[in-house]
Amino acid sequence: MKKLSAYRNIVGDAVIGEIYHKVKPLYGKRILHVNSTFIGGGVAEILTNLTPLMNNVGLDADWRILHGNTDLFEITKKFHNALQGDDINLTSIKKKLYLLASEAFSAYAKLDHDLVIIHDPQPLPLIEYYKKRQPWIWRCHIDLSNPNPTLWDFLKGYIIRYDLGIFSHEQYTKKDLPVRQTVIQPVIDPMTPKNMELKDREIAYYLKKYNIPTDKPIITQISRFDKWKDPLGVVEVFLKVKEKIDCRLVLCGNMATDDPEGIEIFKHVQERVQDLIDRGDVLLVTVESNVLVNALQRISAVVMQKSIREGFGLTVTEAMWKERPVLASRVGGIPLQITDGVNGFLNDPDDYQGFADRAIELLNSPSLAKEMGQRAKETIREKFLITRLLRDYIDIISYELGFTNQNM
Ligand code: UDP
Repeated sequence: MKKLSAYRNIVGDAVIGEIYHKVKPLYGKRILHVNSTFIGGGVAEILTNLTPLMNNVGLDADWRILHGNTDLFEITKKFHNALQGDDINLTSIKKKLYLLASEAFSAYAKLDHDLVIIHDPQPLPLIEYYKKRQPWIWRCHIDLSNPNPTLWDFLKGYIIRYDLGIFSHEQYTKKDLPVRQTVIQPVIDPMTPKNMELKDREIAYYLKKYNIPTDKPIITQISRFDKWKDPLGVVEVFLKVKEKIDCRLVLCGNMATDDPEGIEIFKHVQERVQDLIDRGDVLLVTVESNVLVNALQRISAVVMQKSIREGFGLTVTEAMWKERPVLASRVGGIPLQITDGVNGFLNDPDDYQGFADRAIELLNSPSLAKEMGQRAKETIREKFLITRLLRDYIDIISYELGFTNQNM
């Protein structure tokens, strides 16, 4: 069982004590999370870890899944893209099928909790199908800075009934939404396989298993093969670095077979550096393994995140937690995490030479890399671990249930 006390050594007693203290008025309060999947994706990962912790500190937290079918997921995938700016043909049949999933849920799921937290657009219309007797919160994990106006107008009809909207970035809050709004930045859980401490022999085991040699310093980017993550740009930067220092590039990105764009980008990378791949100086890793990601982040001399656009950038958080110097683009949520020159380096995404110069600087100066890495870990410890998320939720729930008059 997950226990808050297990985090004492990581975040310190003051943080743990504050959570125990704040939750007291909420003992036994019944909280319900609803999203649309148990596995895959950041929301499921957060709920897998957060719900047991909520229960462990005295809340009575429940997690239910909206049972979707392929119709729903196809439509909500389109919604997801359109909320991030794509066009959408919002037909009445799409709207109908979307609503049907919530209506069906309401016929089999009893809902008599003290507070309800709905995650993302899939279960958003549930609020329409229940007699509302408690505060409802909509927690949106999506970049809403530029939503398709037709879709936004449709969804707003449901969001407007909620008591609070929670967004991941200040820029995602909406002026045209007459609902109270707040921001919760994403976090990582330091006790999951992706982020837990690994012993040297465990790291060595995984590197051997996946054929990753460590005889040269490694520059890594962990990211889907996606144009916004700019793997081709990473390769160009690496080629510049390689002219000065003998090193190796690892690009680790799991490949979804249903993502033709990803496969194209992967092929372009392959063509660009086929000779270096043949010599073993560029490794393209496509296996899906959390422990391998963990091990790779831990052994990298430099971790890059050369995104052109980024939501928050959890790969940055993860690598910083592992005391790595991260060299990243000044986009999305990355500058919330990295202060340039202090706990990592920030660059403009199109400044390839700047990226290369910084990488060379870090490779030439292990002491600089070490200091930056140490500061990086402290930044994450202070601001971006799951204990902070638990405390944020306790504050929000206290306010919604009338125990405090302070909203966060
Ligand atoms: N990730 C992974 N294997 C990969 C590539 C990415 O496990 O091959 C994980 C990565 O560790 C991180 C998440 O996927 O936890 C990506 O989150 P991020 O916020 O960086 O970017 P997104 O893919 O959501 O745009």
